[in-house]
Amino acid sequence: MEQNTVASLIDILERDHWLEPDQWRRVLEGYTEETARYAAEKASEVRDQVYGRRIFIRGLIEFTNYCRNDCYYCGIRRGNQKAARYRLTQEEILSCCQEGWKLGFRTFVLQGGEDGYFTDERVCGLVRAIKRQHPGCAVTLSIGEREAESYERFREAGADRYLLRHETADPGHYRRLHPPQMSLEHRMECLRQLKRLGFQTGAGMMVGSPGQTVECLIRDMEFLHQLQPEMVGIGPFLPHDETPFRGEKAGSTAMTLYLLSLVRLMLPEVLLPATTALGTAAEGGREAGILAGANVVMPNLSPEHVRGKYLLYNNKICTGKEAAENLQELREAAAKIGFEIAIDRGDHKNTTGPV
Ligand code: SAH
Repeated sequence: MEQNTVASLIDILERDHWLEPDQWRRVLEGYTEETARYAAEKASEVRDQVYGRRIFIRGLIEFTNYCRNDCYYCGIRRGNQKAARYRLTQEEILSCCQEGWKLGFRTFVLQGGEDGYFTDERVCGLVRAIKRQHPGCAVTLSIGEREAESYERFREAGADRYLLRHETADPGHYRRLHPPQMSLEHRMECLRQLKRLGFQTGAGMMVGSPGQTVECLIRDMEFLHQLQPEMVGIGPFLPHDETPFRGEKAGSTAMTLYLLSLVRLMLPEVLLPATTALGTAAEGGREAGILAGANVVMPNLSPEHVRGKYLLYNNKICTGKEAAENLQELREAAAKIGFEIAIDRGDHKNTTGPV
């Protein structure tokens, strides 16, 4: 007979990669330091079995902070008139990639607000240019919701992966976080479209965003299970002073780590980043993320003069340090906990490599 302890439910999750909603509730409400430690141990074992003790690095290029959306949590929302807006030129982006390639980065992530300047043609031109200069690299786009045809063009141009967090799978909670023009249904449709087109697709949610309940998290887990994304981005919500959520509490680091472990157990082969938000929320947050089952880190390759401008939340880590120095520190931090930094595209286990 199945026992009702949280540990036994975590064992079931490890075995079946699935829980009933009521079991999820017990696991999520059953968070304690001890259950989290148990989940982290299990998740680490699974990650080691699937990928080994290797951390995949992604060079993050935050190439525009113009955005047509007005998400209530986000510091680069259209309504933030204090944001100093910028966009990088193709030359600047390519030179970030060049520097990254020399350092051992084999994936470049182009992330930005939903900026109309970057038409399909411009995005495709960028993807092609990066691929031409660095054959064998992977290109990830993270530029929000677009038409299905645009995603198709990006894929044809050679983009390999796409990150589009669903943010919350609960429709009521989605409404609480976004203005009426945006819809959860559309975001989910984009994600399904990306999967259909063969992108390694990333979904994910913020932890502890205003109004989030255990029910929301259960829905998040169910949605992730259904979508089977290749990547899942999970970080704590952190308030930004120039947003309607300026006075809200930050999400919990501990709960974020617990969720990382649970996602690893549900989706053993997932590529799971220890996010910048996690590193910002707590000293040693990224290392803790790795020890909870994550296996990806996304160091910033953006030029130094714009790093202080891509501010999604308060106090975002943005050292004036060069990418090389950052990477060296990361290597040392990884070695201390028994990991190595892989010089590798770091594709999802079940995805065939470059096409
Ligand atoms: N425009 C792109 C990229 C968004 S920024 C898109 O829509 O996908 C990347 C992620 O940062 C968002 O998906 C969101 O989950 C996270 N983010 C934004 N504001 C945040 C905040 N205040 N705290 C924590 N994470 C935040």
